[in-house]
Amino acid sequence: MNPLVNTRRVAALAAAVTLGLGGLAGCAKEDTGGTTEGGVTLVKAGALTTCTHLPYAPFQAKDDTGKVVGFDVALVDLVAKKLGVTQEIIDTPFEGIKSGSDLNAGKCDIAAAGMTITDERKVVLDFSDPYFDATQALAVLTGSSVKTLEELAGKRVGVQGGTTGEAYINAQVAEKSLDIEVVSYKDLAAQQQALATNQVEAAVNDLPVWNEYIKTNPGKVVVATGFDTGEQYGFAVKKGNAELLKAVNESLAAARTDGTYDQIYATWIGAKPAA
Ligand code: GLN
Repeated sequence: MNPLVNTRRVAALAAAVTLGLGGLAGCAKEDTGGTTEGGVTLVKAGALTTCTHLPYAPFQAKDDTGKVVGFDVALVDLVAKKLGVTQEIIDTPFEGIKSGSDLNAGKCDIAAAGMTITDERKVVLDFSDPYFDATQALAVLTGSSVKTLEELAGKRVGVQGGTTGEAYINAQVAEKSLDIEVVSYKDLAAQQQALATNQVEAAVNDLPVWNEYIKTNPGKVVVATGFDTGEQYGFAVKKGNAELLKAVNESLAAARTDGTYDQIYATWIGAKPAA
């Protein structure tokens, strides 16, 4: 036998064995993910990985040190604590969050993005119990006399792409045949910048983010009017992830009972309106 051929065969066999072992390790997905005590499977061991879309203060935004903090962050930290892991946050476009594709792809375990629970989103995501009530609001520059959408005829109104605010304004424009040019921005920062620099006459987003903007940039903008859309935020998990959803809901319920929720609310949102 030609010794060279023989050597090649041995090499091929060794490669096959290596591949086989590699394949085996690849199959055992738990090697890279992790399962917590309560039977919750996580995409990365030791972490509760959260998908969000920055910035969305006061729900999630970077602080001066670059750390992502906010109302949602604090609530999800409680879930992580319950699971005995730490929260790791991934900043990613809102589209991948609300469509379920990030969760389905195993990019994260949970989505926390000031995200409104809607029937359309419920088809592709499993939502937690509601954790926050929100409405939409129309913001204008201080000094503007605009109070209604009707007064914006012939003007540009900024919205944030993929959001319920965008859907609401598009529906209003269609329903009332309003002569408004709706301009869509990829995130809240771009939308707020557009308003601040007069690229749009007004901008629509969730009321709490305008309240926060006014707090941190006093005197620049005012809320002209609100639209009571009766929205509620929910955290989302991949469809069928009942174990994690249960942990999220239990942790929310516990926070509401023991006062932690109120504390977090006071820190990030402010005083609660009288019930
Ligand atoms: N609450 C809005 C929505 O769900 C906005 C969310 C966001 O921009 N992060 O569409």
